[in-house]
Parts: sequence; C-alpha cells; structure tokens
Amino acid sequence: MLQLNKLTKTYRTGDKALQDVTLTIPKGQVLALIGPSGAGKSTLIRCINRLVEPTSGSVILDGTDVTALSSGGLRKMRRQMGMIFQEYALVERLTVMENVLSGRLGYVGFWRSFLRKYPQSDVDEAFRLLDRVGLLAMADKRADELSGGQRQRVGIARALIQNPRLLLVDEPTASLDPKTSRQIMRLICELCAERDLAAVINIHDVALAQMFVERIVGLKAGELAFDGKPTEMSDEV
Ligand code: ADP
Ligand code: ADP
Repeated sequence: MLQLNKLTKTYRTGDKALQDVTLTIPKGQVLALIGPSGAGKSTLIRCINRLVEPTSGSVILDGTDVTALSSGGLRKMRRQMGMIFQEYALVERLTVMENVLSGRLGYVGFWRSFLRKYPQSDVDEAFRLLDRVGLLAMADKRADELSGGQRQRVGIARALIQNPRLLLVDEPTASLDPKTSRQIMRLICELCAERDLAAVINIHDVALAQMFVERIVGLKAGELAFDGKPTEMSDEV
C-alpha cells in the first residue's frame, strides 16, 4: 500500500538524515518509527508527503509515485495523507469544531476556513468524529481553552475528516504526560483499526510504541536498524 524505495535525504548542510531506507507498509498496518534524536524519524515522515524533498529514492502510495507528482498532483495527494503533529498545530482562536472542519481543506490551507461555509455533510461528519474522540461537549470551545490531550484529540479528528488513506503522525505524545500519552496512542491505534487505515507513527518513547503497535521500525543515523514485532526487540535497538 505504501512503499518506500531506497529513500535518501541529504540536507544542504551535508547532514545525511536518511540513507537507502526501503520499507513496505500494508493496508491497515500501524507502524512505529523509533530511534534516538537525530536518527531521521522526522525526515522520513516528511519525505513521505514531501514537506521535505527526498534527495533520491521513491515513495509509492497505492501505485502512485508521490515523488514524481507535480505540485497540483501533490496537493491532491497530501489530502489523502492525514497528519498529526507533536504541538497539535491548531488555530488557537478558532473553535474545536472549526479546527476539525479546517481539515477538509488539507493541512496547508487552514486559513481559508474563514472564507468558507461548509456543507452540512462535513459538519455532520465533524460531529461524529468529535463524538468518537470524546470531545462532543467541547465543540464550541476555543482551541486555546483545551488541555494538551484534548488538543491532540482535535488534531486527530482534523486529520481523519479528510478520510485519508494514510496517517502520518509525528511525535503525538511528546508534549503530554504518561497517562494522557497512553490514551492518545490507544485512540490513534483504535481508529486506524476501525478504518483499516495505515499509519506511520514517529515516537521516541519505545515502551509506549511496544504497548500499542504490531510493527516497530528502528532508525539509527538515517539507516534501518530494526524491523519487526515489539516482542522481537533486543535491548540494543
Ligand atoms: P532542504 O534541503 O530540505 O531545503 P535546508 O538544508 O535548506 O533543507 O534547510 C532548511 C532549513 O532548516 C534551513 O533554514 C536550515 O537552516 C534549517 N536547519 C539546518 N540545520 C538544521 C537541523 N540540524 N535541524 C533542523 N533544522 C535545521
Ligand atoms: P529525528 O526526527 O529522528 O530526531 P530528524 O529527521 O529531525 O531526526 O534529523 C535527522 C538528521 O538531519 C539530524 O542530523 C538533523 O540535524 C538533520 N536535519 C533535520 N532537519 C534538517 C534541516 N532542515 N536542515 C539540515 N539538517 C537537518
């Protein structure tokens, strides 16, 4: 479903952030990407939707070569890749509902939500998602009134309202306490299972990854260092 072929990124600074990473992720699989700071996790996630341009190699999603798309094609493709961020990236002075609806425009165009009246079907879907993530009662609150865990739930609903084919999740729990982190990881994994949705979750907390996902990929200095089940991991990974 998602194929990375010899994905390589060398930044202009000379940093070799990724080297020849080859991976296949089947439909519905949730994969945790682990590794120490600087290992290339964030670069890998950003190469998939080309927030970072890979230096070489390719990204194929359901047969489409993402790395070969022109800017118009890339815009459409990005709508099919929901993204969830460490710092939530909500618009603070908009309501929870407006933040979720902004996901209908793709994450790069959220400012346009001010100019747009949403169809009732989008509003209905936003209510369904808010109910599912446990925030129905907060729909009219402003984003800046929420706790970190609640903000991330909004971020999850915003990513899912696009009905994406793939979720890209960058350190979803790095700003949260341990209990909230577990709740957020559980929620993301449950939603992926319900929707048969594949996800790549970049997470530095190995124990948390082991608790919830079926496959763990370890990066070390930009190269694949481990790929297997949580139970197969040895201490040096
Ligand atoms: P690209 O090759 O993707 O265009 P660049 O090398 O131009 O990336 O860097 C993009 C920006 O990130 C630059 O402004 C650069 O200063 C900044 N940057 C440089 N080194 C780092 C680093 N180690 N981590 C994060 N950002 C960095
Ligand atoms: P991780 O997410 O695992 O912490 P990153 O993908 O952020 O790793 O970084 C991988 C390597 O690439 C590091 O050496 C980092 O300093 C470098 N790097 C990341 N972003 C940039 C950038 N924009 N410009 C230059 N170097 C970068």
